Amino acid sequence: MNEAMDEASKNSVLVVDDEKSNILALMDILKPDYIVYAATSGHSAIETAEKHLPDIILLDIIMPDMDGYEVITALKSSEKTQDIPVIFVTGLNSIGDEEKGLALGTADYITKPFSPAIVKIRVQNQIKLLEQFRANKYEIMKYKLSNDALKIALWDMDVVNKDPVSPDNNFAWSQEFRNMLGFSDENDFPNTIQAFIDQLHPEDRERTFAAFAAHFNDYSGKTPYDIEYRLKLKNGEYRHFLGLGTTLRRDSAGIPLRVAGAVMDITEKKQMEEKALEDEERMRLMLDAMPLACRLISRDYKIIDYSKEAINLFGVTGKEDSLLEFNNFSPELQPCGRKSSDLKNELFNKAFDEGYLHFEWLYQKLDGEFVPCEITLVRVRYKGEDIIAEYSRDLREQKAVIEEIRKAEIAEESNKAKSQFLANMSHEMRTPMNVIVGLTDLMLEEDDPSVNLKNNLEKISTAGNTLLGLINDVLDISKIEAGKLELVPIRYELPSLLNDIISLNMIRIEDKPITFQLDINEALPFSLLGDELRIKQIINNVLNNAFKYTQQGTVTLGMSCEKSGDGDVWMHAYVSDTGIGIREEDMKKLFIDYGQVDIQANRKIEGTGLGLAITKRLTEIMDGGISVESEYGKGSTFRLRIRQKSVSDKTIGAEIVKNLRRYSYVEDKRKAAKNLVRPDLNYASVLVVDDMPNNLDVAKALLGKYKMRVDCVASGQEAIDCINGGEPVYDAIFMDHMMPGMDGMEATAKIRSLGTEYAMTIPIIALTANAIAGNEQMFLNNGFQAFLAKPINIMSLDSIVQRWIRDKSKE
Ligand code: ADP
Repeated sequence: MNEAMDEASKNSVLVVDDEKSNILALMDILKPDYIVYAATSGHSAIETAEKHLPDIILLDIIMPDMDGYEVITALKSSEKTQDIPVIFVTGLNSIGDEEKGLALGTADYITKPFSPAIVKIRVQNQIKLLEQFRANKYEIMKYKLSNDALKIALWDMDVVNKDPVSPDNNFAWSQEFRNMLGFSDENDFPNTIQAFIDQLHPEDRERTFAAFAAHFNDYSGKTPYDIEYRLKLKNGEYRHFLGLGTTLRRDSAGIPLRVAGAVMDITEKKQMEEKALEDEERMRLMLDAMPLACRLISRDYKIIDYSKEAINLFGVTGKEDSLLEFNNFSPELQPCGRKSSDLKNELFNKAFDEGYLHFEWLYQKLDGEFVPCEITLVRVRYKGEDIIAEYSRDLREQKAVIEEIRKAEIAEESNKAKSQFLANMSHEMRTPMNVIVGLTDLMLEEDDPSVNLKNNLEKISTAGNTLLGLINDVLDISKIEAGKLELVPIRYELPSLLNDIISLNMIRIEDKPITFQLDINEALPFSLLGDELRIKQIINNVLNNAFKYTQQGTVTLGMSCEKSGDGDVWMHAYVSDTGIGIREEDMKKLFIDYGQVDIQANRKIEGTGLGLAITKRLTEIMDGGISVESEYGKGSTFRLRIRQKSVSDKTIGAEIVKNLRRYSYVEDKRKAAKNLVRPDLNYASVLVVDDMPNNLDVAKALLGKYKMRVDCVASGQEAIDCINGGEPVYDAIFMDHMMPGMDGMEATAKIRSLGTEYAMTIPIIALTANAIAGNEQMFLNNGFQAFLAKPINIMSLDSIVQRWIRDKSKE
């Protein structure tokens, strides 16, 4: 630090003494640490003090023309110099002088002859006190400036009696203080502490005195005097005040010599605080009395406050959960499928923009329970910021009631549907029964029943089958209703299941110009574990409807599989058609038991309304479900979902997909089949081997159209017996692949090994439902001449007949 700066930062001392030697001695002691001014008379002392405003004055008492008492009185009466602490330097050591000095505002005494150390310490002490005073004064000023609205009055007390509230002390009130209380002058409100005590509210007295005494008696100066009390104005009104005080000067033992302070009227502030408190209480009361759950939520979604009802609704404890935010009470997704956090941002932004928003929301309590609510968000101003007041109405009960009503409605609907069903059912059953009974009677009456016999029997058979279908449906639904339907899971192959479904449904196209499409891909699993029969029933029911209610266009069957997390497989299937479609209002009735919709439009279409109800129940038993989209007049799409067990990773592959698609029905093929002209092969005979009588019937009927002889046997062994020994009878054998006991493959090998030329050369054609793709070669390698997939395609059969049976030389 350079010397100039050093000088500037020094405190200054004015030394006043008529004895030059004393001045020089004091200068010697103080010079190194202080800037020292000197005056040799009272007058020049006042002049120098006014001019230089020293930090401290060392004042000799006894001086010729103007003594120390006069000097200090003059200094204290000037605004400029009144705060400069004065230390008396005196040879006298009488109590009376000291008292007189103190009464005039002396800060301390130094007695002559003085030791340099004592002078240094006394001066130093005063400097310290001075600094403290300045700091306090600064604080008070700051406070005053920052509280422009507040009035501040000052007081000052020169301590004479060590009891802080003794009337002996020289107390002074600023005029501002009198003004504040409504008094006019010293007569009205004297410069005594008693004047203050008289106005102090009796209830506040003890506290105030105690605080004052505590400050006063803590000689370390650390206990602050800072207290609120009520004072009575002259007009009798009580107002609130803040009293601050600080000791400006202490003697060497620390006993206060001068205490000063400020008093502020804080009534307005107090009233505002009380009002805010009251407002808050009122708000809380209103919040808590509300039957809605209310929360205050900040812009960053923090929950600022909960009403009592909100604490109940959200299952929070209130205080500890104050760190939680909106997201903590919402599930990952809302029922609409959107992420709660995204949707919340959107809705809150809207509420902040527009000031008000109303919507439904699904909450999730901290214990996991879901709570549907109706929410109203209102933007409000709180502590200078925009926040949201959120009101939530618990919809749990209401939803439960709606659900009850819905169930009751469904039950009612189902009852109505049941009556309708009974009516339908009797009609549906009577019609085929009529045919059966009527035609049988007719035939019995006929003299020659063989006339029209075939025709009548066909009609009876159709009616019987219809009746059987009805009875099966009724049995199914009653089994399901009685909870008696059990699934029989087996390992099955998806290509075979699809093949069966396709072939069965192709017949349903009848003569309608419909294209049957297949939407599957090679990644479908090859085999699965599940109730194959029931799955077929499910898909067939839906496909059957599609064909039933479609007059032209396309029916598509789609299937895809998706692995579920637990190793199972979700099988998704859909059936879409370009049929009559379903009215919006009928959609919900679709899956109700016995519900047949659009009775008018369906007048000509037979049905009981049980199919979809059974289908729905079956999908549910398989953990899945069914849904529908439809446009009236344009078509419908039914989607199914069921759970199956996975058994291997093998997929069906591209080849099988190609082959399956080959079977799906295309208009042109159907026309070609219809126009097929079959040759008359009455010279030929064939043997059909199949364990299923139905399959034998079909094969017999189809081959019979070629007018050839068709013999049927039900096992491989019988086939071998037919070929073994004797003359060659058959031109070809149609051999089923899968048969109990001996399968087609083994039977063929045995026939070939019989040794005769007949047995070794007779064309054997494999008939199989299972061999979809790639197996043709296997059959050819195993003694078969050809391969025919079931269900038998008329065109494929024709080409086989043409190649292996027809002998043009015999025609
Ligand atoms: P039904 O035996 O009468 O066909 P379902 O339960 O299978 O009974 O079907 C119920 C009703 O749903 C049908 O009567 C029909 O009105 C309607 N429906 C079903 N599938 C279709 C479809 N693919 N197109 C149009 N209407 C359909």
